[in-house]
Amino acid sequence: MPQSLNWPTASVEAVQYLQMLLRLDTTNPPGNESVAAETIADILRGENIEPLLLASAPTRGNVIARLRGSGEKPPLLLYGHTDVVPAEPQYWTHPPFSGNIAEGFVWGRGALDMKGTVAQQLTVFLLLKRHGVPLRRDVIFAATADEEIGGEDSFGLAWLVKHHPDLLRAEFGITEVGGYNMSVGGKSVYPIQVAEKGTCWMKVRAKGRPGHASMPHDDNSVIHLSRAVARLASEGLPYHLCDAAAGFLESASAGIGGPFGEALSRLKSPQSARQVLDVTLKDHELKPFLNAMLHNTATVTGLAAGYKTNVIPSAAEATVDGRTLPGFTTESFVAEVRAVLGEAIEIEVTMESPPLETSHDTALFRLMVEKLQAHDPGAVAAPYMMTGATDAKYLARIGVPSYGFAPLKLPPGFRYTELFHAHNERAPVDGLGWGTRVLYDVVSDYCA
Ligand SMILES: [Zn+2]
Repeated sequence: MPQSLNWPTASVEAVQYLQMLLRLDTTNPPGNESVAAETIADILRGENIEPLLLASAPTRGNVIARLRGSGEKPPLLLYGHTDVVPAEPQYWTHPPFSGNIAEGFVWGRGALDMKGTVAQQLTVFLLLKRHGVPLRRDVIFAATADEEIGGEDSFGLAWLVKHHPDLLRAEFGITEVGGYNMSVGGKSVYPIQVAEKGTCWMKVRAKGRPGHASMPHDDNSVIHLSRAVARLASEGLPYHLCDAAAGFLESASAGIGGPFGEALSRLKSPQSARQVLDVTLKDHELKPFLNAMLHNTATVTGLAAGYKTNVIPSAAEATVDGRTLPGFTTESFVAEVRAVLGEAIEIEVTMESPPLETSHDTALFRLMVEKLQAHDPGAVAAPYMMTGATDAKYLARIGVPSYGFAPLKLPPGFRYTELFHAHNERAPVDGLGWGTRVLYDVVSDYCA
């Protein structure tokens, strides 16, 4: 690290960039991310870095910049989205687009998801340039539009990957969600995201014999469907241990120790996992997460049947949100669901996206663990799998695997995930500075 690097000043800088970004209303819809892209571009130009502004539609801007390395190694990509979900100002202590600093926090929509990370990445990128750090690989920084709604036709990464893939090619990408501390079993645990579940939304349909409700019979579609979806909830789907889950259980059980560490260790075996989830950790707040990490899930979220009280309808339909583990295709997942629902139930897939998994057996992953632990001695860092999805899925299409690593040290009792998309979203001032330093150490060590 350059001698002249002054961390208090760099931390203030990251916080100021965050405040600047929070004051730009990039609520999606409509997005309007160009204001953020242009603001970032101005900052980059001010440091003699020439950014590329790319937009697939007016106001939906993306900005990309690159620091050239010797080319000895492939590039590293730091990326994040600048759009945010809507906020209801009447429920906020400080207005959601104020960027106010109060009680040790920067307040605003996007402080966690994910303008805080974009501000940290920008700071790290500028520090590398300003201090002339000699790079063995290019470092790319991209702040993109339209993650929160986006999808296949997004104005952000999905579009960039389709139209400008060469700007984004890298050995790895670093983005949300991970690198923040949670208190688990009395230990500080930092999850680093290495995998994302896939999505498979379905309509499932039962057929039966229509008839007059005054003469009930055994071929009632509503009853067939109710029994099938009740089985889905009570039986669930089979146990599978993917690499990310094995890595999480390995690191977390060893690091946490005690009875909870022991319970985590027993989750590695299909013989004991059911007992641990249903009995030992029955009421534990992490049970839903652990269960989702070890199983494909299929959650019934809607039911529709019938049109008149005295008519037995010929069909009944349910909507099911399916989430698939790494290693599963839509076909292999649907086969698992069919085995529980029964052959008589029709399954129609309405939306699908594949799961992702990045190896945690890499030099970059080990470096992230090392730097987190260097700056928070005694803490545990573990690979983990997110049950939702991020923009990482688009980069995976051009062969760029991602890690969710947005280092942030949270004060005791602060529940990160509960403030995601919620009222009073805020990031701790000190924790942001801390995380900027961790990220800088990782990026400079990996690239210099
Ligand atoms: Zn996000």
